Amino acid sequence: MSIQFICAECGGKHAPENLLWRCPCGGLLNVDEYTISFPMDEIKKRSATMGRYLEALPFQNSSVFEQVTLGEGYTPMVPLDSNSPNIMMKMDYMMPTLSFKDRGAAVLIAKAKELGVTNIIADSSGNAGTSIAAYASRAGISCDIYVPASTSPKKLKQIKAHGANLHEIPGSREDTAAAAMEAVEKKQVFYASHVYNPYFYQGTKTYAFEIWEQLNGEVPDTIVIPVGNGTLLLGAYYGFRELLKCGNISKIPRFVAVQAEGCAPLVQAFERGEKDAEPVVNTGTAAEGIAIAAPARHRQILQAIRDTDGIIITAPEEKIEQAREELAKKGFYVEPTTAATYAGFQKYRSQYKQGNPDHGDEKIVIPLCGAGIKAN
Ligand SMILES: *Cc1c(COP(=O)(O)O)cnc(C)c1O
Ligand SMILES: [Zn+2]
Repeated sequence: MSIQFICAECGGKHAPENLLWRCPCGGLLNVDEYTISFPMDEIKKRSATMGRYLEALPFQNSSVFEQVTLGEGYTPMVPLDSNSPNIMMKMDYMMPTLSFKDRGAAVLIAKAKELGVTNIIADSSGNAGTSIAAYASRAGISCDIYVPASTSPKKLKQIKAHGANLHEIPGSREDTAAAAMEAVEKKQVFYASHVYNPYFYQGTKTYAFEIWEQLNGEVPDTIVIPVGNGTLLLGAYYGFRELLKCGNISKIPRFVAVQAEGCAPLVQAFERGEKDAEPVVNTGTAAEGIAIAAPARHRQILQAIRDTDGIIITAPEEKIEQAREELAKKGFYVEPTTAATYAGFQKYRSQYKQGNPDHGDEKIVIPLCGAGIKAN
């Protein structure tokens, strides 16, 4: 299997060995299609980790991945409560570093190691940085992580604990990204960005595979999904598309994407029917993990949501804390960003109910992306 990156703008192809993080034309890179398969007899025999989908991951052989993996993935999926058998919570906070970002980081760092990379730089609002730091350390790769100075202290502590050099940048999430990019250019270091590096999405796509397998080969009607930079949303979209292409499913679930009220560039563009989203000013939100004012993959995210016949909504800011408490009462202790996803789901349900009395049959999967213990 030889993997190529393909530019979303000019269609130019690049070997991953070039260590580019974007096309020389400035365009975003995607992983070009490669042959994948789902040999279920084999998969069923393997351990309950995302590594079980080896033939659908971008590895020639599994040896480097095996050195790096922390057994991430195949997280439990359980009903919201006993009255809601059709509303399933996918517990991605039960990951080695306590967020879904481990899916992407495991693949990205294994590929970096395979490519002989020894130093990386990444920027994050917290969880991606934690995840990249943990896997890089395990892989023996030296790591610099850039985060906004306002990031939750517990996440900062965790990043440092994994041995990364931590850079706390004053200002916005975008200022942090700019600082990281400047360092990448100046030092010519591998940019292990969960946003730009297309390998990250080769990990997050396993989210879709697991839902499909855990529902015994079915897919839900609807996937509720938080969106900041879209690493889970796009990964899930690619995953369902691959299942469709391989004939394993007959439709892709409808995506209900959720943004924070105080930072919703994609909502505005979606509602106006636009192909691209203009950056907004983050006016503040408790959902720090999705507060992305200028998501680089805005066009791809908007297109993916539309392709699933989906919608995008905002989570009411004043409902986030309450949503967090409600989930905790049901046994799920999540961080505020994840509570925002649930608040978005509640809003979706109350609006959807009005015109659709059959809503009770709607099968919905909601990810619980980040652990409560990571936040204050
Ligand atoms: C990263 C993250 C998100 C949002 O993911 P994007 O890739 O930015 O769309 C949502 N929730 C949690 C807990 C996260 O860590
Ligand atoms: Zn290009």
